[in-house]
Amino acid sequence: MTASRTEAPTTESARLYEAARHYFPGGVSSPVRAFNGVGGTPRFIVRGEGAFVVDADGNRLVDYVLAYGPHILGHAPPCVIAAITRTVANGTSFGAPSTQETELAGLVQEFIPSMQVMRFVTSGTEAVMSAIRLARAATSRNLIVKFEGNYHGHSDAVLARAGSGVATLGLPDSPGVPAGAAGDTIVVPYNDIEAVREVFAEHGGRIAAVIVEPVAGNMGVVPPAPGFLEALRWQTTAYDAILIFDEVMTGFRVDPGGAQTLFGISPDLTTLGKVIGGGLPIGAYGGRADLMRQIAPDGPVYQAGTLAGNPVVMAAGIAVLRELAKPGVWRSAADATSALAEGLVDAAQSSGVSIQVPHVGTMLTPFFSEVPVTDYATARACDTKRYATFFHSMLQRGVSPPPSAFETWFLSTAHGEDEVALTLEAAAEAFSDIG
Ligand SMILES: *Cc1c(COP(=O)(O)O)cnc(C)c1O
Repeated sequence: MTASRTEAPTTESARLYEAARHYFPGGVSSPVRAFNGVGGTPRFIVRGEGAFVVDADGNRLVDYVLAYGPHILGHAPPCVIAAITRTVANGTSFGAPSTQETELAGLVQEFIPSMQVMRFVTSGTEAVMSAIRLARAATSRNLIVKFEGNYHGHSDAVLARAGSGVATLGLPDSPGVPAGAAGDTIVVPYNDIEAVREVFAEHGGRIAAVIVEPVAGNMGVVPPAPGFLEALRWQTTAYDAILIFDEVMTGFRVDPGGAQTLFGISPDLTTLGKVIGGGLPIGAYGGRADLMRQIAPDGPVYQAGTLAGNPVVMAAGIAVLRELAKPGVWRSAADATSALAEGLVDAAQSSGVSIQVPHVGTMLTPFFSEVPVTDYATARACDTKRYATFFHSMLQRGVSPPPSAFETWFLSTAHGEDEVALTLEAAAEAFSDIG
C-alpha cells in the first residue's frame, strides 16, 4: 500500500508499522499478520490479559486470534507465567536432557495415548517435515497424499497445490519449491472419500503417507464428513501406508485428546505444536513405537535440534496441560465457543446476513456463505469482502478477530459469558452494517 507514504500515520500502531516495513517483508515475521486479507494496517500488541489484548494505542480488545491457537488458557495465565519465570531463572538452554521433557511427554501421552514415543522440536512445520521423513523411510516410498486447503507448515513437500482434476500430482505452491518436491505430493479435495479411494487404487503401492488436518482449521473450521477419517484409516492400513494426523492446531482444542479422541481413530503418527508450548516456540511428533524408534539415535532416520526440548518451553507446556487436566477447565472454553457460534448465527439472521458458523471444541469460523462449507472450493466461494467489512467493524467495537476469512477463531478458558456477550453486541452492530 502506498497510502502510508503520502499520509502521516494517525495511530501509534500505524507509526510502528511504518518502521517495521523498513526491515521486514510486509513489515511482519509471518504473512497473515500484515492484514493483506482484510486491508488496513495491523495493530501492534503490547500486552495480553486473559481474553483481552491491549494495542499500542491503548485499545483493549477481546481477542480471538490467541496467537493463532496456542493460548487455550488465555493470555498470560498466572500458572504459565510462574512456571516460565521459575524455570528461566536457572538458565535458558543446556543442550542436555531435562526432567521437564519427560514430564511434558508423560502429560501429552495421558491426553493422546497413541503417542507411545515422541520427539519435541521447535515448530509445527518441523514436526510435519520430520514425520514425513520418517514415513518415507519406514515405507521406502515417496508419495505423500494431502488435502486441498489443509496447511501443514511451510516445508517443500506440503507446499503443493492441486492442479486441475479431482486428485492431482501437486504443483509448487510457491516459487522456490522444486517441481520434484511438490510432484511427490498428491493433492485431493478435503472430505472426498471417493477421490481418496481412486488415488489408492492407482498409486497405493507407492504412497508413504496420508497427512490430514482431522478437523480442518487453516481454511477456516471445516469438520470431517462422516466416514472421511475412517476411510483414511482403512485405505492406509490396506496399503501399508502411514496415517499422519496433523493436530498442531486441533490437539487439545477440538477435544482435550485431539481429533483422534473425538472421532475414535488412531493414526500411526501425530504432529503437535501451538497449545503444548504455552505460547513459546514448539512442535512435537510421535506415535507408534516401532516407527518412532527408527529416529536417530535409536534408528537411522536423522532429525535433530539445538533448542529442541528447551526447558523453559517445556515448563510452559507442563503448566498448560496440568491446568487442562483439571475437571471442567477445557469444557468452559468449549461452552463459550458454542454460545458464541450460536449467538453469531442469531445476530446475522436478525440482520438478514447469511452465515455458516461451524464450530468444534474451542474453534469456530463465521463463513459468509449461504451453503455449508465442506471443502476448499466451498470455503473459497465465501464472501471475503463481507468478512473484511465485518472484521473492521468488530475491531472498531473492541473485538479482535483473525485478519483473514480463512483463519480459525480461537477461544480460551478466559472467554466467559461477559466476553461472549460483549462480542455478540459488537457483532449485532457489525452485521447490521453489512445487511
Ligand atoms: C500452525 C500449523 C502448522 C505449522 O506450525 P508452525 O509452528 O507455524 O510451524 C502445521 N500444521 C497445522 C495444522 C497448523 O495449524
